[in-house]
Amino acid sequence: MCHLSKPLYRLEASGHEDCRQEAGMSVEQFDAIVVGVGGHGSSAVYHLAKRGQKVLGIEQFEIAHDRGSSHGESRIIRLAYHENPDYVPLLVRAYELWQKLQDECGQELLCVTGSVEAASRNIDGKDKSVFRDALLAAQMHGLQHEVLSPAEANARFPGYHLPPDYEVLYQPQGGLLLVPALQACATVQRNVIGWFGITEPGHFNKQRFPVYILQDGHAHFYGFPNYEHPGMKIGKFYHLQQKVLDPSRLDRNITAEDEEELRVAVQDFFPTANGPLLKAAACMFTNTQDTRFVIDFHPAQPQVVLCSACSGHGFKFCSVIGEILADLAMTSTTQHKIEAHRINPDRPGHHEFLQCAKRHTEEQVKNHHAPASHL
Ligand SMILES: Cc1cc2nc3c(=O)[nH]c(=O)nc-3n(C[C@H](O)[C@H](O)[C@H](O)COP(=O)(O)OP(=O)(O)OC[C@H]3O[C@@H](n4cnc5c(N)ncnc54)[C@H](O)[C@@H]3O)c2cc1C
Repeated sequence: MCHLSKPLYRLEASGHEDCRQEAGMSVEQFDAIVVGVGGHGSSAVYHLAKRGQKVLGIEQFEIAHDRGSSHGESRIIRLAYHENPDYVPLLVRAYELWQKLQDECGQELLCVTGSVEAASRNIDGKDKSVFRDALLAAQMHGLQHEVLSPAEANARFPGYHLPPDYEVLYQPQGGLLLVPALQACATVQRNVIGWFGITEPGHFNKQRFPVYILQDGHAHFYGFPNYEHPGMKIGKFYHLQQKVLDPSRLDRNITAEDEEELRVAVQDFFPTANGPLLKAAACMFTNTQDTRFVIDFHPAQPQVVLCSACSGHGFKFCSVIGEILADLAMTSTTQHKIEAHRINPDRPGHHEFLQCAKRHTEEQVKNHHAPASHL
């Protein structure tokens, strides 16, 4: 699906050493090879190397680039997961590992601001509500949380202007991860984030402005305090629903329509951040049809572990997904619960993927090519 562009970059890691160079012809042997050294791939390289494996990471662009999904300032991390409560144990471990990584590198990676999940009370009982589902996850897993009235939330966090018919959950452990300090069954979608000028700077600093997920009818917005770049950062899940057929040709130009899509939420919910658009960036969401991750062995080549931990909410898991990938590559099993993320013909799109993998293997056999033993 993705064409290699020259040169190919490699990251070699063994124990605590790593070196980066352009790849030439190599006959070296490695214990494990990681293809794609973005967020999750670099975490897999880290975990494998920590366990003494000789690891090769192969990346089509330079290592730490802006043409994937993991670049560009910060990402939200939160524990009471409205997407599904069964992510919570993975998140607990992800927090531990982010903290450990932060201690090891002596640089701030995890900034706790608290987080808010707010949704209109009028959302139909049978529809998903980020408030109700996050509250359920918090209750099921005994997580710290507070239910606030909109008036209480607005008074406590003066950058917020939530309407009276909203329900609000506050989680003190929510926060953001600082990205620049780090380095089949899915479709790719264009997404845009914008930083809007603030008229009341005191409302948006990290002590007074928790990260948020806000559900307004069917639209979900997410955002951050004024931190690395001036302005309040806001994005909308799935933005203008624009499919990207060729990720190497993502349209990075920001249009008036992109700005308008975000500004409506700024005007309504954060009026003291309704200044000029200071900066905006386009990037990619890789979405599985059920928004669940895909983590499993390749159905036809079981020496290959596949991972797509994405759908717009995967970054916070990088620290633990690397651990899982290292487990699977080294021992074929993991103590983490990943059943819901495995390849399964009952999951949307997976039947087609399995058929495709089968056809590909049959073609290889027909053409007298042995199935590849690596990569
Ligand atoms: C705007 C935006 C906001 C987001 N907000 C959040 C958030 O707040 N919280 C959160 O948890 N998540 C968030 N996400 C999701 C999260 O960033 C992604 O899920 C995560 O970064 C995906 O990491 P990855 O390793 O799968 O992909 P990437 O980091 O893109 O890594 C894939 C790598 O594989 C390389 N590659 C691909 N094909 C090949 C090949 N054939 N050969 C060699 N290399 C190859 C690519 O070049 C790339 O470097 C957001 C995403 C976006 C775009």
